[in-house]
Amino acid sequence: MTDFATKLIHNQGGIDPATGAVGVPIYQVSTFDQNVGNGDEYDYSRSGNPTRAALEAIIAELEGGVAGFAFASGMAAVSAALLIFEQGDHLIAPKDVYGGTYRMLTRGVSKWGISHTFVDTTDLEAVKAAIKPNTKGIILESPSNPLLKVSDLPAICVWAKEKGLISIVDNTFMTPYLQAPLQFGADIVVHSATKFLAGHSDVIAGLAVTADKGLASQLKFLQNALGGVLGPQDSWLTIRGIKTLKVRMDQSQASALKIAQALAKCPKVKAVHYPGLPEHPGHELLKQQANGFGAVLSFELESVELAKELMAKVKIPALAVSLGGVESILSYPATMSHAAIPAAVRHEFGISDALVRLSVGLEDPQDLLEDMMAVLK
Ligand SMILES: *Cc1c(COP(=O)(O)O)cnc(C)c1O
Repeated sequence: MTDFATKLIHNQGGIDPATGAVGVPIYQVSTFDQNVGNGDEYDYSRSGNPTRAALEAIIAELEGGVAGFAFASGMAAVSAALLIFEQGDHLIAPKDVYGGTYRMLTRGVSKWGISHTFVDTTDLEAVKAAIKPNTKGIILESPSNPLLKVSDLPAICVWAKEKGLISIVDNTFMTPYLQAPLQFGADIVVHSATKFLAGHSDVIAGLAVTADKGLASQLKFLQNALGGVLGPQDSWLTIRGIKTLKVRMDQSQASALKIAQALAKCPKVKAVHYPGLPEHPGHELLKQQANGFGAVLSFELESVELAKELMAKVKIPALAVSLGGVESILSYPATMSHAAIPAAVRHEFGISDALVRLSVGLEDPQDLLEDMMAVLK
């Protein structure tokens, strides 16, 4: 079974062997009777739960890894991956890394002596120049948030392997449907499954996958030791969301392209950042390493006032943080997703206060455009 669409439905979370149920049951339990002869596969739900295990097997299969791990949030997955490193280690991370990861690097693991350098990961030479004798890992996000910058993930992962670094790719924006980082040599893939994978803005969840058995056992240890596991109900919701990933993503990215094209023609829009536009600097590169351009775009308006007016007046998109839901979500990076980054640093990264980000959902794209154009006309 090789087609992705088929795999989304018929995977290790398919038919329940005990009852023939066509979905995974929700094993809403904390503990397991160890006398029933389950080979002690399960003893306590922090260490393992059959519903969570089904989700973990599914994401491992979709990403092409040997093991998957489900966490209580994307940040719990990212944090577990960061805690693989040790005191004295140095990490390389993108300048425009996700705000929560930025916070964890600058105010979390830094307290335990794990240092970092932020670089523009779209510049391979800058990445290479950032290596130090104690560099042990690199974190990557492509396309990045909120400017949708594209980094050459295959080239960086190959270089990281040569240098013995652990490469961690946050694949939240692309999902395994559009981009498979383990296939081009990444060591760990992390997800905020809260976004496109679960897809319905009804669950907070995180996933990590690796193709390396040693890293898998470290992640397993950290998942159980830290304890930030995904509950059975939320594991089930995530499994359910994943079944429709392809149709949702196909629809949303087709709409995102239409909207990006229309915004690019609007005189009050200074810049549109969407890698599906041929003029986007990462367009060709993303085409080579991914099967699509995703459903998130950002655009800079002619003034901060207009950005605020747009956010106040639009009726269809929710004005909210998050992305990847069935409903479109308009967000304001300056005070929402990137608020943890000081203003001066944010501006240096190119995240202007007139920038808004749109995650395109499943509404009719024409309705979404008319809604926004009523303000931008
Ligand atoms: C949302 C997000 C996260 C954090 O995930 P949570 O589920 O909110 O903890 C990490 N990385 C990216 C790219 C995200 O968009």
